[in-house]
Formats: sequence, structure tokens, C-alpha cells
Amino acid sequence: MKPHVRAVVIGGGVVGCSVLYHLAKAGWSDVMLIERSELTSGSSWHAAGGFHTLNGDPNVAKLQAYTVSLYDELEELSGQSCGLHLTGGVMMADTPERMDFLRQVHAKGRYLGMETELITPSEAKAMFPLMDESNFVGALWDPVEGHLDPSGTTHAYAKAARKLGAEIVLRNRVIELTQEADGTWNVVTEQGNVKADHVVNAGGLWAREVGRMAGLELPVLAMEHMYLLTEEMPEVLEFNASTGRELIGVIDFKGEIYTRQERSGILLGTYEKACKPWSPIETPWSFGHELLAPDLDRIAPSLEVGFRHFPALENAGIKQIINGPFTFAPDGNPLVGPVPGLTNYWTACGVMAGFSQGGGVGLALSNWMVHGDPGADIWGMDVARYGEWATLRYTNAKVRENYSRRFSIRFPNEELHAARPQQTTPLYDVMVRDNHAVMGDSWGLETPLWFAPSAAEAYDVLSFHRSNDFGPIGEEVRRTRDSVGVTEISNFAKYEVTGQGAETFLNHLMTNTMPRIGRIVLTPMLNNNGKLIGDFTIAKLSDTRFMVWGSIAAQKYHMRWFEQHLPNDDSVAIRRFGLNLVGLSIAGPNARKVLEKLTDDDVSSAAFRFMDIRKMDVNAAPCVVGRITYTGDLGYEIWMEPAYQRRIYDGIKRAGAEFGIVDFGMRALLSMRLEKNFPTWFRELRPIYGPYEAGIERFVKLSKNDFIGREAAAKEQADGPKLMRTSFLVNATDADVMGDEPIWAKIGDTDYRTIEPPHGFGAPRFDSGGKEIAKPEGGTMRDGDWRVVGWVTSGGYAHTIGSSMAQGYIPSALAINATEGMFEIEILGIRRPARIALEPPFDPTGAKMRG
Ligand SMILES: Cc1cc2nc3c(=O)[nH]c(=O)nc-3n(C[C@H](O)[C@H](O)[C@H](O)COP(=O)(O)OP(=O)(O)OC[C@H]3O[C@@H](n4cnc5c(N)ncnc54)[C@H](O)[C@@H]3O)c2cc1C
Repeated sequence: MKPHVRAVVIGGGVVGCSVLYHLAKAGWSDVMLIERSELTSGSSWHAAGGFHTLNGDPNVAKLQAYTVSLYDELEELSGQSCGLHLTGGVMMADTPERMDFLRQVHAKGRYLGMETELITPSEAKAMFPLMDESNFVGALWDPVEGHLDPSGTTHAYAKAARKLGAEIVLRNRVIELTQEADGTWNVVTEQGNVKADHVVNAGGLWAREVGRMAGLELPVLAMEHMYLLTEEMPEVLEFNASTGRELIGVIDFKGEIYTRQERSGILLGTYEKACKPWSPIETPWSFGHELLAPDLDRIAPSLEVGFRHFPALENAGIKQIINGPFTFAPDGNPLVGPVPGLTNYWTACGVMAGFSQGGGVGLALSNWMVHGDPGADIWGMDVARYGEWATLRYTNAKVRENYSRRFSIRFPNEELHAARPQQTTPLYDVMVRDNHAVMGDSWGLETPLWFAPSAAEAYDVLSFHRSNDFGPIGEEVRRTRDSVGVTEISNFAKYEVTGQGAETFLNHLMTNTMPRIGRIVLTPMLNNNGKLIGDFTIAKLSDTRFMVWGSIAAQKYHMRWFEQHLPNDDSVAIRRFGLNLVGLSIAGPNARKVLEKLTDDDVSSAAFRFMDIRKMDVNAAPCVVGRITYTGDLGYEIWMEPAYQRRIYDGIKRAGAEFGIVDFGMRALLSMRLEKNFPTWFRELRPIYGPYEAGIERFVKLSKNDFIGREAAAKEQADGPKLMRTSFLVNATDADVMGDEPIWAKIGDTDYRTIEPPHGFGAPRFDSGGKEIAKPEGGTMRDGDWRVVGWVTSGGYAHTIGSSMAQGYIPSALAINATEGMFEIEILGIRRPARIALEPPFDPTGAKMRG
């Protein structure tokens, strides 16, 4: 064992081996993997070995596609077979709602270049004759699915890594981690100590314990999971003999079953509702290459459906039942990246689909460690997406919910209920009990989504179409736009940046010039590649004190970046308020009249201008009030300590009564911002877009000083943005876009190369350096003269203007040269005419906000 290496990877499952391989491939050959037993000693050895590309998050889907595309290269380099069977697979829909879901998945796949196809149950049966097709209404075919040998694949990564110079130490448990003052890690193992500049937690089943070695409580939990293997089946042999092909993989949502051929029989696994966590508090170090006791009773309901849907299975003998544990994060996606608050401690854990995601996790993490950036938009699996609220018991409840819903439909208007309410503001009871609010979960915080007419009506009817909230939201928007509305805005991240160096620090991180005292600015934040990693509202309260507001969900993500860039000299301090600061917003033409009744300050338009901010008593409570609103109306954001929130809210409601003040929720707010063409963080604004592409260049001041990403931003400006964020008015009927729909354009044979292909466009294929290369278009991306040219980021119904709207990205050249009738947006399988809205349809000049 070397005494000092650049990085130690803890854990020799498929994920640790992939990370090791990718680090070595990226040029860090001075790396060591330490495995407590033999390779694959956690979950990896007993996995069912299935792989697929589809994922609810298109960015994660791209990394899955990378994983699948890697296996040939890996076999070649290592000389080790991965035992690949690229069979293709189907997802079977048993209801029209499930079919809507599959249509959405199919449409989403288009701009990723996936060649999925909607097929009939009979067509599916032709590829998997064991099914009784009368149970289904349709199916989605994906050719890029299959299964492999889990052990062979893990060893292929390991052998390839060794060839590139990496060291693997077996039968050696990491017992303790301590960090030196210079940031290096002291890795204490059974065989002695190793110094490492970086450590990677790829501990799989023991990721929690490896986290605890550094004082972390990572939100991961192992669940028991069962699949069974049948004896040889004549139906399988017959199919193989008559077609010369293997059976395809099948997902049966109704039965919560996945199934495929294994040798001459069938493998069938379930994600049962009566799921069971394994070792919920602590994983024993004594657990080895063991299986858990099978429990057929637990999966009996799924098996009953399975026997009905696949009748031949009822007569098949069961050869073996595998029950093994593997880990999940609360949302089922991996936990990857540098842990906020620690230096050089990286995670690659919570990977529930190691054979679909392991390669992508290894690539992203190695890019991040070696080049300082993951090289892709990996927010969906960033370890920073969870806050301190994701405790052990919270994780337990959420993981069970996620596991039991693995094959359930998630409707676009569906809020999940486990582990809630986790955090509430003082207004929670008032909102729910008195105002009939339907609440949503905003990074662990309860937030009003919309207000129902009565308690009995305060729930969402789950649907892909417009639902029961449509009318009430329309009313919230109308009354706000016509008079005045109030909403809670505690679900923002709030920071205080103080000190002599505060302004210099913020000027170095942000693209916009910092405001004068008493003023507010909006500003993006870029990474070194000039891509968007933040979008903030910043106010200057004194020479040495700034308030910063951003996305609540990105708090840890942003704090990690802020802390990385803090000067070493104590000249700047950053405080995250969390729920120690809460807020209310009033908006609408009568908002000023309401505020005037509650304060002694002069809030006339001249004395308190648009984008002004100041300390002000509101209903006798100390507040900070800014004249700004996301609705696009005249409006104010009022910030207070939680103890005052009810008093201020009551005051606003009383003062607003004469104007018919209305409570409005997040959904009305998002509808109002749509008709102002305002973008949102995580939808329109993400690390794959530059500020010019996103159309927020007015907040980028290239000449002010040398800020992070300035050079790349200047290049983006000089070259001209390749993409353009574009708002569309959509001719929709009863369903609006949900996000990730393909945008079609009638461009005939226009040579696509002359219209720069946008990011993420074309198949997610990668060259040997891990760089994405575009695939020639065709298949699902073309229909006569119509071609898929971009994707929707978000949208919905814009109630004031009375139209469905969408925002998305298309090549700039297309946006600039758009003609009438040129665009269509696919909603639930139907292409709807869409017209570009260059100007915001509501108050294009912004006169209302400034009035
Ligand atoms: C029954 C079952 C079926 C599955 N089917 C599929 C499937 O079809 N497709 C799919 O993609 N996935 C499947 N999975 C999930 C898959 O197994 C996991 O995603 C994958 O194994 C995770 O790999 P890992 O490397 O993160 O963790 P693990 O495989 O758990 O590896 C972690 C390793 O770290 C080592 N380690 C931990 N702590 C230390 C320490 N302190 N010192 C040294 N070494 C340490 C352990 O010994 C272990 O070898 C299945 C899982 C199960 C249980």
C-alpha cells in the first residue's frame, strides 16, 4: 500500500470501481481503491443486472446512456466480459393514465435522441409471448435496454483502472478518517494508514457509516429487494428456437414487476408496496456475501398480478429467490459530488441502479475532482440537494415511499406525502385551516400551492390534464392583477454577506454590478465555463452588509460555492438564515395602498422606487421591505423574523379587506411569471446554459471587473449564443406543458449544421474522452418537414392573457428567423401549434411594476 496517494476511493462495488476507472482515465493514476473484502461485496454481486436509459430527469438519462455506451469500450480495455445482453424492453400500460405517462416519456426521449416507440399490446406480446395482452392498453418500446453480468462488469472497471495505473487493495477495511490542518485525509485502515488529498465515499451499503467517519449523516437507506428465478420454461425455449432471439425485458407497472429471460427461464423482480428497510440505523460490518431470508408473503400481491398478466409463470418451478439489500436516497437518485462544508470529501453513493448509472456517476465525479466541474448538469444527483432536514427518520419514510412508488405514476400536480410536514412557518395552520390551502413541499418546507373554496375541496385531483385547481388559480391571478393579493415567500434561500470584503467578494462571484445602499439588483452567477450556476436578488443595506436571495433548493449547492471562494482573511462572513427569516409578498395595483395603511414610512412611488429596499415597520413589526415582485405587478417583498409573521399577515389581510385582497399560492405566482416571460431557476436557468442563451444578458456587466466566468461569457457574447430561451403561446386545449416536451419546427431539409445543434440535442453518445458527440438525427426526431429542434423547460396556463404558455430552448438562428406556423409543441402525444412571444404578453413595457 502506498503511504500517500492523490485519492482514496472507499468501496469496491460497481460504483467505486467506476470512479477509480474514470479518475485513472482522466489522468489521476496515483489513486487507490480500498475494499473491506473482495470486489462486489456489497449489493453489486447479487444485482439482477438490468440496465436502461430512461429516467425522469433528462440529465440523469444522458448519464445513463453514457453508462450503457461505455460497456464495449470497457470490455476491450480490460479484456473482461461484461456479459452484455442488449435485448430491448417494453413498459406496459394498463390504464389510459399510464398511457399518457408513456406518451410523455416517449416525447421526452425525442430530444435526447432516444429511439423509443409507442406500440400495441400485441406487438409487445410478439417479443414476449408469455404475456396475456388483454391486460394492457399499450406499451413503450426502448431498444437500449438489457442485462449484464454484475460481477463481470465490476471486475471490468477494476481491471481497466489497474491497467491505467490505479491500485486496488482488498480485504482491508477503512476504520477511521481524520483530516489534517492542510486538508489532507488520514485514512486509517486495518492494514495501516494512507494519506490522501481526496477521499471518495463509494461505500454502498456502508455509505452511511463511511459518512459518519467524517461527521456526516448522509440521507441513504438500504431496502430489502427480491427477485426470483424460475426453472427452465418450455415457452422460453420455444421462443428462442423459433426466433433465434432472446426474450425482451418487460416492466409491468400494474404488477410492480420487472421481468426478463435468465438462461432458459425467467427472472422476475418486484418493488412491493409492503417494502422493508434493512439495517435502518446501522449496517453491520460483519455482513458479507450473504442473502437475506426470502419473504414470499410480502411480494404475494405482486405475484398474483404477475401470474394473471404472464400466465405461463404460474406453472413454472421457482429455482431460487434472491433477497438482497441495496441503498436509496429519498428521491431514488444518487448522491454525488463534494460534500458542502467539508474539503475534498466526495460521495458516490445511494446509487440504486449501479449498472445503468455507475458509469455516469464515475464520469461526473472524476470530471469534478480533476477539472473542478462535473462536465454535465448533474443537479438531479448532486449530494448538495438535501439539507439538514433530511434526517435519518425523514430518509427512512421517504425511501420507503419512493421504493413503494417505483412503478407508480407521478402526476405533474402530485405532491408526495411521506415525512410531512417536516418544516412549517407560523402561518401553516392559518393557511391550511382557515384558508383551505393545498400545500406543497419546498425543500422540506410546507408552502401554499393554491387555495380551495372549501376544506372539502382542498386536494389535487391528480391528472396530466388541467385539474380542479385551474379555476381557483385563475381567480387568484385575476384578483391579484385587478386589485391586490398576498402570498408567503419564505421558500426562498436568504443569506447575509457581511464584512469589509463583502462587496468585493460578491462582485467577484456575480455578473452584475453591486447596488448602491438601499437598492436591489438581480444577478446571475456563473461557473468558470460561463454557465449559469445561480440567479440571485441582492440588496445593499450598508457598506458592509448585503442581503442575498436565491433558490431554496439550491442553498447547500450555493453555500458550497460561496465557501469555496471566501477569502482566507476573515474579511467576509456568510450567514444562511433558513427559517429564521420568513417573508410575505403583496402584489397588484392596490399593493401600495395596503402598505400605506400599515406603515408610517413614505412609500409613494417617488419616495420608494422600484428596486428600493429599506428597514420599515409594518403593522408595528420590524421588517425589511423591498419594492420588487415576481408577479410583474406593483409589489413588495416584506421580510421579518418568524415571531412577527402572523401579526404582519393579519395586518395585511385587514388592511387589504376593502380592496378584496386575495391569498395566492405558488402556482398562481408561477402562472403570473409566465406571462412576463420571467425564467425560473432549475427550469430555464441551469448549468448547461449561458446567460446570453438564457436571455438575461442585461444583468451581465462584462466591463465592471473580473468576475468568475467573465471570459467565457465574453466569448458567448462575441460568438453569439447558440441557443435562445424562448417563450411560446401554445394552442393547447385541456392540457398544458409540464416540462421536457419536444419543440418541433417545420424546417424541411435545412442543413442542420448551419443551425448550431443545441446542447443535449441528438443522441447522448460520447467519445472515448467522455465528451458528448451528436448523433445524426432521424427516427423519432423527424416527421416529413418537421424536425425536433429543442425542448420545453416549463410552462402552464397564463390566466391573465388566457393562453397556454411554454418556455424552452431552440437554436438562436431559428428563433430569429421564425415565421408564422413554424413551431409545434408536443403535449401528451399531440403536436400543438405554438407561436413565439418575443415580448412578455402581460405588461410588455413593465409600466405596472414601475408605476
Ligand atoms: C436484489 C437486487 C437486485 C438488483 N438489481 C439491479 C439491476 O437489475 N440493475 C441495477 O442497475 N442495479 C440493481 N441492483 C442495485 C445494485 O446492486 C446497486 O445499484 C449497486 O450494487 C450499488 O453499487 P455500489 O458500488 O454503490 O455499492 P456496493 O455494491 O454496496 O459496494 C460497496 C462496497 O464498499 C465496500 N466498503 C464499504 N465500507 C467500506 C470500508 N469502510 N472500507 C472498505 N470497503 C468498504 C463494501 O465491502 C462493498 O464492496 C440490485 C440490487 C439488489 C439487492
